[in-house]
Amino acid sequence: MKVGLPSALVNPYYITFWRTFFQELGLEVVETGQTTKELLNKGVRCAVPDICVPIKIYTGHVVELLEQGVDWVYIPRFVSIRKGDSFCPKFLGLPDMLRATVPGLEERLLTHHIHSETDNIASRENYWQIGKRFSDRPERIRAAIRRGAEKWREFRNLCCLDGYHCDTANEAVLKAANLKRPKHSIRIGVLGYVYNVYDHFISMNIINRLDKLGAAAVTFEMLKSSQVEKQLQQFSKTLFWTFSNKLLAGAYSFLEDPKIDGLIHVTAFGCGPDSFLGKWLELDADHFEKPLLTIRVDEHTGENHLQTRVEAFVDLIARQKRARECAG
Ligand code: SF4
Repeated sequence: MKVGLPSALVNPYYITFWRTFFQELGLEVVETGQTTKELLNKGVRCAVPDICVPIKIYTGHVVELLEQGVDWVYIPRFVSIRKGDSFCPKFLGLPDMLRATVPGLEERLLTHHIHSETDNIASRENYWQIGKRFSDRPERIRAAIRRGAEKWREFRNLCCLDGYHCDTANEAVLKAANLKRPKHSIRIGVLGYVYNVYDHFISMNIINRLDKLGAAAVTFEMLKSSQVEKQLQQFSKTLFWTFSNKLLAGAYSFLEDPKIDGLIHVTAFGCGPDSFLGKWLELDADHFEKPLLTIRVDEHTGENHLQTRVEAFVDLIARQKRARECAG
């Protein structure tokens, strides 16, 4: 039996857990890979027109899996992964929205609620019912959850203890690959949801682009949960949404870190939560005297335009650094 995992939204963050969990239950896992224009168009044709670009992309990945003939498409309803926070409403209604917009999904939809007080979603409460659909052996379900959790922790340690990007860490967990970390003197904090930063179509592979320009990208998932919490405590009121709060914590860690030379905020058109975060960043980047570049992409954004802006931004930072070094 085949279960399809759309390679979009929070999959870069949780794929090691999900892939292992379903494989341990004996299912064949099918993943869609990087977003393409064709895949996005499939999503645009089905999704409601006013929805944000990442949901249109996710819809395209779901359509693709159905066309590939999987038996199930796994679309969890993310409710919370932090005490007191919830996910953006589009995550809360995701299975319902997809059920209503993608023809043929209803009978192949595999869904459940995910409630957690931490990023670690691998609990019996979250995964028992899903596990029971595919195995009547409690020990096998327990082992699948446990094994998935081990892989996910391996991934998280590579990100936040060793400073690797999500996609490098995922690759390493999957293939036990050798890891390479670029050493650049310019360090840029790249803020954005994992589904924007690691989707090569949305971010146009900004991490590699920066690497080629001689700048290392530092991302929020490199922060430990304790660092995120510590940062958030400084605010009398935070944002409502879990991943927006992680980005907020990431933003302030980067603003306060003298080793970070500037910030790039990657945001997709149609994102309500990002409009709050973006304004907040604009005001405080000035206060911390750090250059900030906002890259807002939609389904029509062109690659040349992005390249020119990123080049100019890195050039500006390099000049500032040289001027500081000469003055110092
Ligand atoms: S946080 Fe923004 S980009 Fe993400 S699903 Fe919600 S509206 Fe869309």
